[in-house]
Amino acid sequence: MKWLWLNLTLLLAFGLSGCSESPQVHQAKLFTLGTLVDVTVLHRDEAAAARAVEIVESELATVNAQWHAWRDSPLTQINQQLALGNTVAIDAATYRFIQQAQTLASHSEQRFNPAIGALVALWGFHSDERPDSAPPTQEAINALLKSAPSMADITLTETTLSSNNRAVQLDFGAFGKGYAIDQAVARLKQSGIENAIVNAGGDLRAIGSKNERPWRIGIRHPTAAGVIASLEIIDDESVFTSGNYERFFDFSGQRYHHIIDPRSGYPAQGTVSVTVIHRSAAVADAAATALFIAGAEQWPRIARQMGVDEVMLIDEQLTLHMTPKMAQRIQLEIDDAELNIVGGEQ
Ligand code: AMP
Ligand code: MG
Repeated sequence: MKWLWLNLTLLLAFGLSGCSESPQVHQAKLFTLGTLVDVTVLHRDEAAAARAVEIVESELATVNAQWHAWRDSPLTQINQQLALGNTVAIDAATYRFIQQAQTLASHSEQRFNPAIGALVALWGFHSDERPDSAPPTQEAINALLKSAPSMADITLTETTLSSNNRAVQLDFGAFGKGYAIDQAVARLKQSGIENAIVNAGGDLRAIGSKNERPWRIGIRHPTAAGVIASLEIIDDESVFTSGNYERFFDFSGQRYHHIIDPRSGYPAQGTVSVTVIHRSAAVADAAATALFIAGAEQWPRIARQMGVDEVMLIDEQLTLHMTPKMAQRIQLEIDDAELNIVGGEQ
């Protein structure tokens, strides 16, 4: 018995060293974008994998520094100027970023509305740790709703940004992570990396595969430990989830989360999580937030307008609403799920 064990160990060691010519999985953890980021790179060469991790780190850090909503950043300076009614000079990268956000906001009918930064701040979410203290008063919420800031108030040219509504305060918490991951993956591809995952706290983009086998991704259960579903990545895809469990505070027995319905000024009701699969991480990120707010009734329309057709929305009754495309590929990891497959034409 002992002999067999020894032989097995040797075999294993031999097997591993024999594999050194084939690509290996390299993993690194970074802390940026307010979350833990897991970078997985499949590569023969350890040094090349380490360079890939550096590329990801630098791209994510650049977007984080540019668009941070409450630490002093180019974004907070833009917001100060918009509040004064001034026009701001912008560079090409800023133009592309804001233009994409503005288009997605319009397609979402402003459910995804990065112009409500003042509301998000009023709810206390412009801090690293939101304390469990009272929610804002109805008067304070009404005062911000009255001016109805939206991305449609923004006038954008390739070199300037201005707003005809001084209540516009930009907050890209619902979009920046996706944009940053798209930037990082574009740079990875340019540098010859074909197989990798950039996973920022469960929101990810994966490219290629793991030695001919597809990457397999888990989707977190919104109300219990573990995963609710899993799926295999096809070629190059992003999987983003917006959930009411991600950032919240409790006060007087009531839970208040961070996804604000721009129409009511309150945390959106009725949904617990939305997962979107799309090639672009930026689109998946914005759409997950928008569809969370759109809710179980209206999400199919907003999804179509935003160009996403792989969606799973979980409502407060834990009914799983899905597009047919999502239903086809997702593997549920729970028993007795109540399913609602929506939109036969999708
Ligand atoms: P996500 O986790 O991608 O759904 O983004 C949520 C974050 O986006 C919040 O922490 C806020 O910073 C911001 N946010 C909240 N409500 C909205 C909204 N209706 N539209 C755009 N951004 C929002
Ligand atoms: Mg989002």
